[in-house]
Amino acid sequence: MEDPLDEELLSPVPGLIHRYPDRVVWLVSSVCAVYCRFCMRKRRVGCTEATGTGTRQAALAYIANHPEIRDVILSGGDPLLLEDDALEEILSGLRRIPHVEIIRIGTRTTVTLPERITTGLCRMLKKFHPIYVNTHFNHPKEITAASARACARLADAGIPLGNQTVLLKGINDDPQVMKRLMQLLLKIRVKPYYLHQMDLVRGTAHFRTSIDRGLQIMEGLRGHTSGLASPYYAIDLEGGKGKVPLLPEYVRRDDDSLLIRSYRGEVVRYRDVEKS
Ligand code: SF4
Repeated sequence: MEDPLDEELLSPVPGLIHRYPDRVVWLVSSVCAVYCRFCMRKRRVGCTEATGTGTRQAALAYIANHPEIRDVILSGGDPLLLEDDALEEILSGLRRIPHVEIIRIGTRTTVTLPERITTGLCRMLKKFHPIYVNTHFNHPKEITAASARACARLADAGIPLGNQTVLLKGINDDPQVMKRLMQLLLKIRVKPYYLHQMDLVRGTAHFRTSIDRGLQIMEGLRGHTSGLASPYYAIDLEGGKGKVPLLPEYVRRDDDSLLIRSYRGEVVRYRDVEKS
């Protein structure tokens, strides 16, 4: 599909996606440092999309008029492909809205253009805390000295870093590769956040893995390495229905007990409290 998550239908003003009650995604840029073959937003990314002043004002006005929005995620394209001044203007606009509690920035530049994370950029971002950055590493080989330095600069600016990984057949659909990626992310102060099942985007079928494979990878993480290294494995439901976490089956009910499987495969009976 062109737009498997129905983002266009959930867009009240150009560039804004309002899918969940208390947060919005704001597409502030339509360019990236590289164009990923698997991108779920490829219908827009790289196109000359109106991200001009008028569009930005309309997005800010929408956020200001919706007091339930407490979390704004800047995305794109890649927001860090904007000049510092343009980004600062957007952040200042958001900080003038009292109900916006947190601002998140989704960027792959930590991987694809680590030189973009300059001390000047970090100094500017620090003025708008609480700011969170979500990076996008898919393979341990993407963690280089340069990307580690970029993440260190952001972390030193007091910015919590999370990571989203896309599960890609033939690239990272292997429990050992995934475990190493998650461990190396923690070493560079990035907390694994999501492992995404591929969205059903046109031209990406060759990257799709089965859900069983994803669950097997999650089983290979939980218990076998620190809990900090386990992201949520999530599927984004078609039609804009939202993300749902997928979990290996650890728990089975047996009358008033639960049969719970450990990461080593032992089944332990756990007596639950009586239902009131
Ligand atoms: S950097 Fe992100 S938005 Fe840009 S092409 Fe890659 S996945 Fe898509």
